Amino acid sequence: MSIAENLQAIYDNIKRSALDCGRDPEEIQLVAVSKRFPVTAIEEAYAAGQTVFGENYIQEAEGKASELGGKCTLHFIGHLQRNKAKIAARIFDVIETIDTFKLANTLNRHLEDLDRTMKILLQVNIGEDEHKSGMAAEQTEQLLREISGLPRLKVIGLMTMPPFTDDPEDARPYFRQLKQLADSLAAKGLFAEGEKIELSMGMSNDYHVAIEEGATIIRVGTAIFGQRA
Ligand SMILES: *Cc1c(COP(=O)(O)O)cnc(C)c1O
Repeated sequence: MSIAENLQAIYDNIKRSALDCGRDPEEIQLVAVSKRFPVTAIEEAYAAGQTVFGENYIQEAEGKASELGGKCTLHFIGHLQRNKAKIAARIFDVIETIDTFKLANTLNRHLEDLDRTMKILLQVNIGEDEHKSGMAAEQTEQLLREISGLPRLKVIGLMTMPPFTDDPEDARPYFRQLKQLADSLAAKGLFAEGEKIELSMGMSNDYHVAIEEGATIIRVGTAIFGQRA
């Protein structure tokens, strides 16, 4: 199947999953994860109507961003090192993986230099998986409070990647926990004012479960572009 056909199938699935659980399909955004795929693949998806893309590696993304010339919305979804924050501040529209104050502070400083603001999500290691980045759920409130003092950053939600398994149902409890955490933080008014609160969860194999559990951003790579080399 072509990229356009894959995308159409996913748009249809999103719609069906959302309607089946009484949600508005319009509140779910697809981030097409294009890591390790060339700009030509992004162009193909763009021609089929997809405008939001996710990238994991700064150097790779920097080249692609300059080739694309600003026509796409780019989310950073990889692990961000502080020495790469300057480039990230320049090329991304949303950074989904902030997990320490030090990193947030560095990013804020670069954004100030560029006279930009950035929407960010905090990455929560909800499964307490030692192989994954992100902070523990209990640390999220404190980090939100600390970041609220950084004027260039707007925290619009939470992102997670549960421990990988073959059965998408295994991810459900983690998605549910992230939603509960976001709801409790939202009730305390800790997210950026006037912005829709985002929950970024769900990938190729489990996005339908994530939608049932309240995802507003799903990050899908393989199901659009195929297996990565
Ligand atoms: C690679 C990646 C994805 C996409 O995974 P697929 O299984 O290819 O859909 C989503 N989120 C993150 C953080 C990733 O690194």
